Amino acid sequence: MTEILTEPLAEQVALDALWMPFTANRAFKQAPRLLAAAKDMHYTTDDGRRILDGTAGLWCVNAGHCREPIVHAIAAEAGRLDYAPAFQMGHPLQFRLAERLTEITPAGLDRVFFTNSGSEAVDTALKIALAYHRARGEPDRARFVGRARGYHGVGFGGISVGGIETNRRAFAAQLLPQVDHLPHTHDLARNAFSRGQPTHGAELAEELERVVHERGAETIAAVIVEPMAGSTGVLLPPAGYLERLRAICDQHDILLIFDEVITGFGRLGAPFAAQRFGVTPDVLTVAKGITNGAVPMGAAVVKREIHDAIMDAAQQAGGGIELFHGYTYSGHPLACAAGLATLELYEREDLFARAASLEGAWSDAVHALRGLPHVIDLRAMGLVAGIELDPRDGKPGARAFDVFMECFRRGLLIRVTGDIIALSPPLIVERGQIDEIFSTLSDALEKVS
Ligand code: PMP
Repeated sequence: MTEILTEPLAEQVALDALWMPFTANRAFKQAPRLLAAAKDMHYTTDDGRRILDGTAGLWCVNAGHCREPIVHAIAAEAGRLDYAPAFQMGHPLQFRLAERLTEITPAGLDRVFFTNSGSEAVDTALKIALAYHRARGEPDRARFVGRARGYHGVGFGGISVGGIETNRRAFAAQLLPQVDHLPHTHDLARNAFSRGQPTHGAELAEELERVVHERGAETIAAVIVEPMAGSTGVLLPPAGYLERLRAICDQHDILLIFDEVITGFGRLGAPFAAQRFGVTPDVLTVAKGITNGAVPMGAAVVKREIHDAIMDAAQQAGGGIELFHGYTYSGHPLACAAGLATLELYEREDLFARAASLEGAWSDAVHALRGLPHVIDLRAMGLVAGIELDPRDGKPGARAFDVFMECFRRGLLIRVTGDIIALSPPLIVERGQIDEIFSTLSDALEKVS
C-alpha cells in the first residue's frame, strides 16, 4: 500500500521550480492541492483526505485507480524490457497491443501508429492525412478543417485545427496557415436540457459544403472533430450531424478524423463514439484510456486503405521507410504492458457495457439538477455529463471555479472549463457513488449561490 505522508507534502516541498501546465500557477502555489495516492474510485490528498474521483483523473482512468493487473504488468515489464528502440526494431507487446486495439475499433480501422499523448496522436493523424493524399497523387490537398470549440491537444497542428482562441493567442504567429473552422454546435436557445443527443443543429454540417465550395475540394486533406467535444464542455453532437459530415467528406474524398481521446474506451457506453453514433471515421485518435492513464500513450488508428496507399507509394518509389515520422517512445514497452492489461481489464469487467447500463440512472441524476441555482443546461450520455452555469457578472468561469473548490473541500473532484462543470467518473462507479457525486455537487451549487 502507498504510504500516506503524515505531514502534508505542501509543507515539505518547494513549489517554485515547477511551471504547471494549464494552471493558474501563482494562485495554485498560494494554496496547493496535492494528491498523494489513489485507489479505485478515490484519491487521497497529501494531508490524508479521501476525494471521490468524479473525473477519472483527466478523463483517463476509466477502470479506476491503481488496479492490480495494470500495476503488476507495468512493474513486470519494467524489470524485463525497460526500453526498446522504436525505429527499425520491435518488441512483441507493441504488435500485440496494436492487434488487440483493432479488435475494438470500428471495422476497417485496423492499422495503428503509436504516440505518447493525445496531442501527438492528433499531429500524427494530420500528417498521415497529408501523406495519404500525396501518395495518391493529390499533393494539393493540404488544407484542414477543424471546428470552433474543438480541443485537439497543444501541438502546433492541434492548436491550429482546434477551436479554442485562448490556446492560440500567445503563439499566434506559429499556426498552420491553411485551416478553416466549422461553427460549433452548442445552441442553448434551441437545445438546452435536451436528453441525449440534441435535436437541433444537424444543418450546421452544411458549413462544410460552404468551405468546400470556397476552397475547392481538391485542396482539402481532412476534417477533424471530436465526435463529442469534451474539454470545452461536453457538447454532444446534434442528431444527424456526424452522419452529414461523413457524407460530405465521402462526396469530396476528404478524410474524416475523429479525435476520440476523451470519448474512447467506453466513456459513451460503447468502445468508441464512432460505434455509439454509428459513424465511422477514416482516422481515429486515442490516448488517455488506452493505458487507464497509468503510462502516457496515444495512437492514430487508420483505415487499412490509407495505410496501404502510403506503403504502396513508397514501394513504387523504391522501398525503404514509408513514413518519416515517429517518436523515441512510440510503442514504449511499459505503455504497451499497461495498455494490454488495461484492455484486458475493460473486457473482463465488461466496463463499456457497464457504462451503457448505468446511463439511465446517471442521466436521471444529472437532469435532477435542473432548477438548482444558476444551472442553465444539463447534458449527459454514457458516463459523462456537462452542467452549464450562467457566468457571474463580469467574471466568466469564477462561479464554476467556486463550485470546484467547494466540491474539493467536500471530498469530490470535478472538472470545470469556463462555467461548465464536467463529470466523467471511472466506469467502475457504483450507484451509491453516483448519488454521492450528485448530492455533493447539489450542496456545493447551493452553497456557492
Ligand atoms: N484531443 C482531445 C479530444 C483531448 O481531450 C485531449 C486531452 N484532453 C487531447 C487531444 C490531447 O491529449 P494530451 O493532453 O494527451 O496531449
